Parts: sequence; C-alpha cells; structure tokens
Amino acid sequence: MKSLVLEQKHELSLRDFPQIDREEEVLGPREVRIKLHTVGICGSDVHYYTHGRIGPFVVTEPMILGHEASGTVIEIGDEVTTLAVGDRVCAEPGIPDPNSRATRLGIYNVDPAVRFWATPPVHGILRPTCVHPEAFTFKLPDAVSFAEAAMVEPLAVGVHAATKARVKPGDIGVVMGAGPIGLVTALSALAAGCARVYVTDLAEKKLEIAASLSPAIVPVNVGRETLAERVLAETDGWGADVVWEATGSPKAAAGVFEPLAPGGCVTLIGGQPDPISYDAGAAMVREARVENIFRYAHVFPRCLAMLASGAIDVKPLITRTFAFDDSVAAFERAAEAPPEDVKMQIELPQ
Ligand SMILES: [Zn+2]
Repeated sequence: MKSLVLEQKHELSLRDFPQIDREEEVLGPREVRIKLHTVGICGSDVHYYTHGRIGPFVVTEPMILGHEASGTVIEIGDEVTTLAVGDRVCAEPGIPDPNSRATRLGIYNVDPAVRFWATPPVHGILRPTCVHPEAFTFKLPDAVSFAEAAMVEPLAVGVHAATKARVKPGDIGVVMGAGPIGLVTALSALAAGCARVYVTDLAEKKLEIAASLSPAIVPVNVGRETLAERVLAETDGWGADVVWEATGSPKAAAGVFEPLAPGGCVTLIGGQPDPISYDAGAAMVREARVENIFRYAHVFPRCLAMLASGAIDVKPLITRTFAFDDSVAAFERAAEAPPEDVKMQIELPQ
C-alpha cells in the first residue's frame, strides 16, 4: 500500500511498500483493521527525518512514519467484543507485551518490550490501513472529530504529566516551553485544577498562541524577562506549586527549581539526549518532588472524555492540514518549524 516512507535521513518518499501489505494481511482474533483518516505530524517523526535517529533508536532500513492516528474500523477479529465495523476510533501507538512485568504492574509504558509506531524497527501509520489490538483502540464519542482524535496521542502526554504532578485545585503552574507538548500540558494542568499557568518560550508567536488558549494562561518571554522573578512577584514571593519542563533544553532544565515553591513538584517531560546538570541544593531547600514521565499509560479514555465534554479544546492547536499526497511537503514544512504552526496533520483519502 502507498505509504510515507523515510528511506534514510533527509529522504522521504510516498510509494508502495509491499512488506507492510504482507505483515498486515492477517487479522488476529483480538485485533481490528483501521482505515486511517487523520495522522498528526509529531516532533519525533520530524526528528527521524532530519537526524535519522532518536537516542538509541536508529533508522537503518526504510520506515513508515506517523503515530498520531484516528480512523474507522473496517474489519474486526473473531473475539473482538467492544468495537464494530464502522466505529470511529483513535489508536494508542505503543503496544506492550501483555504478560510483561511492567504491564502487570500497570506501568506498561516503561515495558522495555513495548512496540511503538514509527520507532525503529516498528513501522508507523502514514498509510491507508493498519491492524491494531482492540485493547489499544478507542471508540470516539460523537462530539469528537477525526482531527481532534488524532490529537489524543500528544494530549495524553500532557494529561499523564498533570497526573504525575498530582495537581490540586488552585495550584499555580509553570510550563517551560510553548511547543505542542508544552501547550497540551498547560491545557491539562488547567483541566486538572490549576488556577493559572505561566507558559514560557523565546518565540513571541508561540506565546501569543499559548495566551489565546485560555485567560488563565500567562505568557512569559524568557528572552526578555526572568521567569522566577515574575512568578515570585505574582505569588507573594512563594513560587509555583508545579513546574513542568517541556523544552528538552539543558539550560531551561537547569533552572527548573528557581520558580518552584517550597514543597512543590517538578515534572520533567522534555527528552534529554545527554546527561544534564541538576541543582540538588535548590531542590533540597524546597523539599522538591521530582517526577519523570515517559509517554503515558491508559490515558486515552480520559482524553476522549475531556474532548467530548469540552473540558479541553485542542482545535486551536491544529494549525495546518495537508492531503496525504502532499505528505513530503508537509514534512519539509514541519522540519522548518515555523513558529506560527503548532500541530500539522495529514488527511488520508477516504
Ligand atoms: Zn507524538
């Protein structure tokens, strides 16, 4: 089937990929076949395109990109009970070993055996159809569009990050970084009960988008002012209860404790390819709690419930939509990282 293939670093093509037809011919008893509708372009997809690797995951053979997906069920396995042909769905891209120790402990996202779409050697889903386990495929409420449903994957990271931070109603939050993950984290923090969330970045356009999402989001351009000074000035010198690091920049991460209140929590979201410095003294005097997240575990139903109720609105984050035939151009644009674009999506022909 015609797929968007990363042939090697810097080289994409839209072409037939016979191997995937063979692999996906057989439908297991507890699997569904999905006709894909909308696929979001993730920073990780772009990174594989521009760098050919993410940490230990190296693209050594042609790989189909894409992991933020929604679509329609077109066939179900013999033992499938919760989904039917015609159901609109979104799909969780990481499949753990159901019998692994991590899965039995409820932390399947850190199962070393997890197979995650568009992470070598596993293919992604920028292709017409895919086969996926029923257990990791979620039916969409009527009020949730295919485009919103394809946002559930990045949103799940923000919801998991808010959950790990244990937000309480009225907390003051800080999200460092106004990229797509920073913005879904800010929305999740507000949905979890934060009274207001300071969102930082260096790009004014990104901060404008952040501020447009909610009157409770306070943009802070850290190229022009000092985050800690601003937060302390507006919290009677106390600081923020929760800080999320979503830049992946070692310099930003080095300052995570500065705006944090005593007894507060820092959650590290941004990936760091190399070891970074950590101000243990600043953490100590605050008795700071530090959390780390890796993707998410069983968050998709919560995301769908919040999109359906309006508790979270991701529509303003979807800034550009491309046709599948224009996928290569879409990735070229995404690789330029224009500050006015948050999430770009690709729609497949139906
Ligand atoms: Zn993603």
